[in-house]
Amino acid sequence: MHSTPVPVKKRLRLSLNATNAPPQHVSLPPVQLSPIPEVNETASTSKNAQASEVKVSNSTPRHSPSARGDPHRSNIMTDGDEVQCVDVSSSEVSAENDKCSFESIADGRKLTDKDIDAFQQLVRTAYPNVKGLQTPLLQQCNKFQTFSKGPMLQILHEKLRKHWVLVALRTEAEQPVVEVYDSVYTTVSDETMLNICRIVDGGSDSMLTVRLMNVQRQRGNTDCGVFVCAYMERIVRGEEVVGVVYDTNVFRPHLVRCLSSGILEPFPCFTARICRKPVLTEKVVSVVCICRKPWNGELVVECTGCGVYFHPFCACIDDEYVESSRVYYCSACC
Ligand SMILES: [Zn+2]
Ligand SMILES: [Zn+2]
Repeated sequence: MHSTPVPVKKRLRLSLNATNAPPQHVSLPPVQLSPIPEVNETASTSKNAQASEVKVSNSTPRHSPSARGDPHRSNIMTDGDEVQCVDVSSSEVSAENDKCSFESIADGRKLTDKDIDAFQQLVRTAYPNVKGLQTPLLQQCNKFQTFSKGPMLQILHEKLRKHWVLVALRTEAEQPVVEVYDSVYTTVSDETMLNICRIVDGGSDSMLTVRLMNVQRQRGNTDCGVFVCAYMERIVRGEEVVGVVYDTNVFRPHLVRCLSSGILEPFPCFTARICRKPVLTEKVVSVVCICRKPWNGELVVECTGCGVYFHPFCACIDDEYVESSRVYYCSACC
């Protein structure tokens, strides 16, 4: 057991976060050892049950803690107010409303998880080789499947911002490059970053490069769901989204036409422009622990066997053990 984790050398060369500090330089405030709160009532297991589950598996994610993103810190590029997409966990989504509503989409209202699900199913049918496309409801209970290779596309819901974003894994590089397509914000929220870490496997290094792409911004406050559908349709055809200007006067009727006919067709757009800065921001994140969180400088303990870093709480390592000089082996390496 290390009282402070031993860093893997190759991680030291990479910028992991704003402080660029390796894990062993960081001490853990007591508050961060507190039990992670449940996020919703869909959790069927107790905290103890989760902890024992964590010890025997290196791939089963725990229920996530509350996302730390602050919607008010981000720049909003539209002239309108903050986006008002539906919260998929709200009462607006119920078993009674289990289908997408063409009228609602055509009327300019926010897209629901049912609308997004219907569109992703349409893409899956047209492009069966595309991975991801998981129903947004799986996100609510942290049941998303993890992928290491592209092409993978996933529309994610940001609960705090009440907002839809698209995540794409297009390459098969050893260190995955994840592209984020967002019609409103110029930062990737902590919430989306956490979800990216849960659906994309960073390979042996557990490192991900996350790029926020410079795409067309919406003007209204209800269009983000339609934009991510339009982005996705273009990406599955192998086309670039950067520089494309969609005809927003007709893209909602177009979406309805695709969903009602079951035929996925290109969203009407104007000629793509040359974009001098296709990537707005780029960040390399290190995914740690079985909870698959981006490492933000908190205390982690390295398994001597596999080199994976674990949060003491997630791996059920008590303070006394952490402070001792004994080496640590995770349950998979024991
Ligand atoms: Zn953890
Ligand atoms: Zn191990």
